Amino acid sequence: MRQSDMLIKHLVVYKTTTWANQIRFYITVVSVIFTMLHSSSQTKSMENFAIVIHGGAGTILRENLDERLEKLYKEKLTESVNAGYEILAQGGTALDAVTAAIKIMEDTPLFNAGKGAVFNHEGKIEMDASIMDGLTSKAGAVAGVQTIRNPIEGARAVMEKTEHVMLEGEGADRFAKEIGLKTEDETYFYDENRWQQFQKIRQQEKIRLDHDATDTTGYIHPKDVEFFHEKKFGTVGCVALDKYGNLAAGTSTGGMTNKKYGRVGDSPIIGAGTYANNKTCAVSCTGHGEFFIRNVVAYDVSARMEYKGLTLEQAATEVIMDKLKKAGGEGGLIAIDAKGHIVMSFNTTGMYRAYKKSGGKTDVKIFKD
Ligand code: ASP
Repeated sequence: MRQSDMLIKHLVVYKTTTWANQIRFYITVVSVIFTMLHSSSQTKSMENFAIVIHGGAGTILRENLDERLEKLYKEKLTESVNAGYEILAQGGTALDAVTAAIKIMEDTPLFNAGKGAVFNHEGKIEMDASIMDGLTSKAGAVAGVQTIRNPIEGARAVMEKTEHVMLEGEGADRFAKEIGLKTEDETYFYDENRWQQFQKIRQQEKIRLDHDATDTTGYIHPKDVEFFHEKKFGTVGCVALDKYGNLAAGTSTGGMTNKKYGRVGDSPIIGAGTYANNKTCAVSCTGHGEFFIRNVVAYDVSARMEYKGLTLEQAATEVIMDKLKKAGGEGGLIAIDAKGHIVMSFNTTGMYRAYKKSGGKTDVKIFKD
């Protein structure tokens, strides 16, 4: 019986009868009003969903990014954010939206994840990824994987199909194969431009953020290195709030070019590169991973909201623009809170990023503007 019918029935039957029935009548009225108010507030929150993605932060300079390349990046970011948004709009979960958006960025050589993953010191691919569910606090990660086509799917499978949080190296690759995830050999991940980038950097014996077009020490000038103009890569990440009020975050990367074999960055580390908690926010980071690990960046944003009562924007600004910067850490993050507020904060010159809120337009940006 509908709530309004119930109310009419009680009105007719009880209102004018016994004293006890009158009490029952008033209890019914109060409970019906309460139920109506409650369900209307649920409907309201269900309309409020949003998604934010990033494709890496670094020294991304307008003068070094030609129009053609800028267009390619913007198109891919748009495709990714819209794919995740559609899932949310149709009632899908934040976890599904995050996975789908990241997969699109992993499948293009434009970004440093999946197909576009950079080379380590030995000229090999070692990819890291993680995902976290803000509702259950469940999380999954893979580190140093070499064959999983979409490492974000590997991370999600660790979360959903094992009792663990992280699998690494050969074991993680084997697990992915056993459960039927798509795997690829070295040829799929090879990219000539990326190889040349690695050779140059290797000569300098430095490690670097792959998407940096310039370097503060000046050891590589972008004008000298044609391939920096043609291809810049970046770690990818996504955070989302679904119609049910649940948050999720995910991050996927090839790490840093020329990194030492076996090096694991912040991206697969829950609390450093990725974190989600329905009570506070969902966060995905990008930048020099060692600093993000030491400063437990993703969790710190959440903790400042929970313990200091800061807004998402205040918490993210304190962590990225103050604490991390003072520590010498370059990079940024995207985050979303349970009400759908978003931030895209970075202390570098640029961060590939895009977002879309329920009923809103897709917004794509690269530079500070
Ligand atoms: N945070 C990643 C790492 O250190 C790199 C990046 O964000 O570009 O592995």
